[in-house]
Amino acid sequence: MENQYEAIWKELGLNLENHAGLLGVLSDAYINIYMAQKNRPKGMEYFDFVVSEVHGLRIKEVYEAKESGRPIVGAFCVYVPEELVLAVDGVCIGLCAGAEVGSEEAEKFIPRNTCALIKGFMGFKLAGLCPYVELTDLIVGETTCDGKKKAYEIFNEITKKVYVMEIPNMKGPKGRELWESEVFRFREKMEALSGKKVTVEGLQKGMALVNAKRKALQRLSALRAADPAPISGLDALLVNQISFYDDPVRFTQMTNALCDELEERVKSGAGVAAKGAKRLLVSGSPMAIPNWKLHAIVEGSGAVIVGEEACIGERNFRDLSDENFATVEEGIAKMAGRYLSIDCACFTPNDERLGNINAMTGRLSADGVIHYSLQFCTPYMMEAFKVEKSVNRPFLKIETDYSMEDFGQLRTRVEAFLEIL
Ligand code: SF4
Ligand code: SF4
Repeated sequence: MENQYEAIWKELGLNLENHAGLLGVLSDAYINIYMAQKNRPKGMEYFDFVVSEVHGLRIKEVYEAKESGRPIVGAFCVYVPEELVLAVDGVCIGLCAGAEVGSEEAEKFIPRNTCALIKGFMGFKLAGLCPYVELTDLIVGETTCDGKKKAYEIFNEITKKVYVMEIPNMKGPKGRELWESEVFRFREKMEALSGKKVTVEGLQKGMALVNAKRKALQRLSALRAADPAPISGLDALLVNQISFYDDPVRFTQMTNALCDELEERVKSGAGVAAKGAKRLLVSGSPMAIPNWKLHAIVEGSGAVIVGEEACIGERNFRDLSDENFATVEEGIAKMAGRYLSIDCACFTPNDERLGNINAMTGRLSADGVIHYSLQFCTPYMMEAFKVEKSVNRPFLKIETDYSMEDFGQLRTRVEAFLEIL
């Protein structure tokens, strides 16, 4: 029987055979990793459903939004101001890829020793497996790490729709000035793309939507401080991954409903792991969907992950935008400041990150820190040195990619680490 979404996939030019294979692998992985967990909150049913419809219902929604004239914007980084996309009634979708797909095709364009995230997004596009990329009217890149910067040039040759925001390397007055001007330039780009002006009301509406989403994620993060943890790291990671592509209003509502349930769990002392189970903070490179490898290993070994100091995690929602402004210019300038406070390892120096990691370990009562870098992710691999020196907790440094080849080896290292905690 033809899948109900097949007509859309065909129209978007996906490779239907490979795509069916991908959905099969994703579904098996989800059943083995997610559905095998015990004592999950009921509120996770919604997120299970969203994952099952990642290339189905959500694609149909975005397709219909595009048909109705709304601009579809794809992004790879938490520096891209989603508020400005929403201010002109656009749809913003995170395009980072967390699976090893299309590597052979990708390696025809980029070196083998490129981080898995870059290889992943190139591979998904080149193998005809990403309906989101096909639906976008604009793909926003940024000058963060060198790998991404150069990959966007090639991605633009392939897709013809990449727009790059220049992100400074340092956060002094000149860097701030440059970044602010880039956010104003992005406003012009969004106005040209949508044919709509960014107004005070539109910007406030966009900010309110994104702030509400971030507040729901902050609430989820705060609830993970309880012992026993009311939700697994795997489930919390999934909610964070879904925040990048779900409808923001519905996502916020469902995350708050999940948090209501978790609050009840905390009150009654119910949790996913036994009270006193070892608690870990994961810090480092982003874990895009469906990258669940490290969480599956750690939680499969009896510990619980209580926080992600990463872009798919705390770095995405730590700060809110100030909704109090009288003019569009004032609002954008304030918002630009909010974005520049993000502590990505692409900046030098980046000491705020060290303070933020230590604040998280304290707030979440983490027994240890696992520093996670994707192989060839120079910024995070390098910064691990300073992180290790600054955390006052047992520390384990991991470099890996999306393949399952090192699964057993990583599990042995994680188990040995848990022994010493
Ligand atoms: S790690 Fe840095 S470059 Fe990557 S998404 Fe986060 S902020 Fe952007
Ligand atoms: S994971 Fe590291 S190397 Fe890869 S895109 Fe992000 S910052 Fe760049």
